[in-house]
Amino acid sequence: MKRYDYIICGAGCAGLTFLYEIISYDKTKNKKILVIDTSIKNQNDRTWCFWDNNESNFRDIINHQWSQLNFKTNNFQKKLLITPYIYSMINGLDFYQYILSMLSNHHNIEIKQENVLNIENTENGVEVKTSNKTYLTEYAFNSIIFDKKTIETKNSLLQHFKGIEIETQNDVFNPEEATFMDFSTSQAKGTSFIYVLPTAKKKALIEYTLFTKNILEQKDYDDVLEDYIKNKLGIKEYITNHTEFGIIPMTDYKFKRFNGNIINLGTVAGCVKPSSGFAFNFIQRHTKQIVALLAQGKKPHLKKSFNDRKFHLYDAVLLEVLAENKMQGSEVFASIFKKNSPQLVLKFLDNQTNIWEDLKIMTSVPSKIFLPIALKKIFTVK
Ligand SMILES: Cc1cc2nc3c(=O)[nH]c(=O)nc-3n(C[C@H](O)[C@H](O)[C@H](O)COP(=O)(O)OP(=O)(O)OC[C@H]3O[C@@H](n4cnc5c(N)ncnc54)[C@H](O)[C@@H]3O)c2cc1C
Repeated sequence: MKRYDYIICGAGCAGLTFLYEIISYDKTKNKKILVIDTSIKNQNDRTWCFWDNNESNFRDIINHQWSQLNFKTNNFQKKLLITPYIYSMINGLDFYQYILSMLSNHHNIEIKQENVLNIENTENGVEVKTSNKTYLTEYAFNSIIFDKKTIETKNSLLQHFKGIEIETQNDVFNPEEATFMDFSTSQAKGTSFIYVLPTAKKKALIEYTLFTKNILEQKDYDDVLEDYIKNKLGIKEYITNHTEFGIIPMTDYKFKRFNGNIINLGTVAGCVKPSSGFAFNFIQRHTKQIVALLAQGKKPHLKKSFNDRKFHLYDAVLLEVLAENKMQGSEVFASIFKKNSPQLVLKFLDNQTNIWEDLKIMTSVPSKIFLPIALKKIFTVK
């Protein structure tokens, strides 16, 4: 059985970020590595948006950036000047190609298009079984969810969305400004909002997003998008360049960071923020820390920090508020944005706030709704 130092199971956002980090350290870049994915990553299957201080490793492939965002509900509207943060967009395909193209000189890294069936700790190492073969490694870095059902909890929701990139005949968009959340859509099915992400005066990605238990028929997303574009944005004629559909699990399931020498990455390591579905920054930070351990010659078993547990608790509380319809998502986010600076809200949503800053955000939402749930969760969520 062929033996590797590391096998990377799943070459999506987390797997490829892991590879990017691995080749950036002298101590790890020559390791014998196998990367396995069912896909050859040649499709633009998603668009990532995230905010940071413009310090991303992937600045070269950023498609567009905004330092001004809009937040809207039917009765509240705020322009969010987010500097020193910047909101950035990366096309999935650019990300995959950027990292894969860096590997051409690394003959120690093999890539195989195979279906991983099982990953198991054994006495000889970790065995990765695919539909073709079984491989052996010291560590497997896994970002594959083998059974989506296992991560469902009582309060799990799905973040599901359809986005269309449209092009218009006239200049209708301001590419300097993006709509972060527009809750003026019907909230009858649950929390739902629209993103408007203009990349040029005639071009924007418009995304209809919901946080609900079940996904919709494709026609339901299309109807809302068409209505929004025609009646809210006042655009009568446009062509659709590209369509994107996604489902992201929003769950307070306690993801394990590792099992023996199987180290989880990405969604399967709990890097998707349960109350927002944002994951890109969390994946970057988690992966960086693991590779830094390897580069120092240490074991890559990164335990959950106090901060991880603290935010997991907050997320579990908000998820229950949304899942049990205790308060509408639009009202929760409006209360928070009304009473706080956009920088503080974004810092909080990125799990970077300290306990005093957390308190400022928490006192923006009604304590009679949130406090009883928080008290209950303190004893049930670890
Ligand atoms: C359409 C979409 C848009 C998103 N937009 C944003 C955003 O704007 N901002 C943000 O922060 N987050 C966003 N997310 C959430 C999150 O960032 C992404 O889901 C991210 O890709 C998760 O990374 P991952 O590595 O865990 O999973 P993935 O990127 O999905 O990678 C998993 C990989 O495993 C492979 N695989 C699966 N099963 C097997 C198998 N059995 N054998 C071999 N290979 C397998 C897949 O082909 C895939 O390449 C989005 C998610 C989706 C779906």
